[in-house]
Amino acid sequence: MSIPAGGRRAADRRAAELREPLRVTDGVWAVPVPLHGSPLRSVTVFLVETSDGLVLIDAGYDHPSCWEPFTRAVAEIGHELAAVRLVLLTHNHPDHIGFADRIRALSGARVVMGRDDDFAHQRDVRGGGFLVQLRATLDRTGAPPDVIEEMYTGALGIARHTEDLRLDLAPERDSEHVVGDVTIRGLHTPGHTHGHAVYVDDARGVVFTGDTMMAEGPTQLAVPSLPGDDPAGDLLASLDRIRDLGAGIACPAHQTPYRDVRRRAEELAAFHRAELDAVARLLRTRESAWEIAPCLTWSKPWDELGTGGKRFALVHTLSLILGVTR
Ligand SMILES: [Zn+2]
Ligand SMILES: [Zn+2]
Repeated sequence: MSIPAGGRRAADRRAAELREPLRVTDGVWAVPVPLHGSPLRSVTVFLVETSDGLVLIDAGYDHPSCWEPFTRAVAEIGHELAAVRLVLLTHNHPDHIGFADRIRALSGARVVMGRDDDFAHQRDVRGGGFLVQLRATLDRTGAPPDVIEEMYTGALGIARHTEDLRLDLAPERDSEHVVGDVTIRGLHTPGHTHGHAVYVDDARGVVFTGDTMMAEGPTQLAVPSLPGDDPAGDLLASLDRIRDLGAGIACPAHQTPYRDVRRRAEELAAFHRAELDAVARLLRTRESAWEIAPCLTWSKPWDELGTGGKRFALVHTLSLILGVTR
């Protein structure tokens, strides 16, 4: 299976979820993991072959309905999870960290994730994990209390983390990892979360972009739970860093791997700049995220979005407002 480059038909293919393992390039495999009960449908994890075992980028969702197809797919491509030496997590969302502990127990692999996404650090600095941060954020959106309550309750199912994942390494910013004959750099690229990292295999020209730069569609902005958080500004700077890597292939955690990495980084940055401009105009007559979100463009008209869709939109809008007003 080839990786789409450009054009309209290619755009449809890029937005499609992977259905079976894909050899992205020599020594790099994409392995889709189904996500039951999530609108995202699947998350893609990546295996990088080295002369001393495997590197796993991201670790799926912790549910038997994900673990079984994952282990089957890894066996199908001729690998064993016992050979994993290193687990590099792009960020702390439940669809990305699920099997990390399990794989460490199985193989002795080291588990790495950016410091700002580490649960232990979040407890100290942000008062708690994702749900605590989500609550604090929703309280800043100007939405009526009953709407906030409904949104928060709705998030409890899918967003619940066990919150006991222990990291072997939590780099504050960039990092470098050598396994056998392969070197992978971690680049701190906040925006989707505060501690998000993309991982770069310079020798193969591949960047693993997590949830920061999918093949199509916007990047969901982080929950801005602390004063001074600016996910939109962070994301624009992160996209500039990815644009300048010179990577030939991007491997996102949802949808399909793609080439033209530079063009995609520029396109996405232009999209989010246009969103910031729109919010700046709306702020002349409106104040809160609750007032502004219905005036922006989403995947569906505002009234047709469900509670979950509106929650994503509201958090994203609050991040845009902070990007304009800081
Ligand atoms: Zn995510
Ligand atoms: Zn994700």
